[in-house]
Amino acid sequence: MFQEPASTPIDIRFRLFRTAVRIHPLFWVIALLFGRNRFDDPDKSMAIWVFALFISILIHEFGHIIAMRNLDDDGYIVLHAFGGLAISTKRLHRTPKEMIQVALAGPIAGFILIVIIYVVTQLLGAELQGFYYGVTGWEIIEFAIPQFYVYDLGMLRLDEGVIPLATQAVIWTHINDLIVTLSVINILWGLLNLVPVFPLDGGQTVMGIFSLSNPQTGQVEALRVSLVVGAMISIVAVFVLQELYLGIMFGFLAFQSYQMLNSPY
Ligand SMILES: [Zn+2]
Repeated sequence: MFQEPASTPIDIRFRLFRTAVRIHPLFWVIALLFGRNRFDDPDKSMAIWVFALFISILIHEFGHIIAMRNLDDDGYIVLHAFGGLAISTKRLHRTPKEMIQVALAGPIAGFILIVIIYVVTQLLGAELQGFYYGVTGWEIIEFAIPQFYVYDLGMLRLDEGVIPLATQAVIWTHINDLIVTLSVINILWGLLNLVPVFPLDGGQTVMGIFSLSNPQTGQVEALRVSLVVGAMISIVAVFVLQELYLGIMFGFLAFQSYQMLNSPY
């Protein structure tokens, strides 16, 4: 599930900052599936959702790539049905410390983007009006995200004659949507990836930390944590949150940890 998916004829490929990026077609399918509630909402556009998701996952993976380059490694990025991968082209083995650095760089990149968005919107005079609750519809895990009413930026409003006010209102609604969506995705994606389940970033971080303190048994201990936490999240996701996709994903990861614990290596 978290291995590189095979190439298809409709993969999109490009290079950005000397890094090869490949987008598997299922990335777009899953993006549409997760944004499907937007079809009934006139104030929210599917294009903005897909764009925000694409940018967010790309920035997360670039965080990993930058950390790799600091370690004289390099890599390429693949976006697929379960998010993204930053795959090393040079080194397969990392010390525990290097493992922690590379793993944490992904979520940190996303959090930095949120801080930049926050600072820029504040500098532009956007008002923080109330709170916006997560786009996922989860009732238990509601992340309060500040909603930036960029709409109220008087200084950026043009004269009626240039662009009709009604059109300006539509534009600001979409800019606002983009900012809020980027914030929500980056917080959720960062936190999700920090869960201590292998091979998510959090799982790799825990494996690095455990291996630092105990090189002999660190890996096994981290996989045990991964198995237990993955199984718990899977159960909560299916029976409490009713998020089947999330449940299947963590169930699979827990099973994978179980298999790794039982493989003789
Ligand atoms: Zn990551």
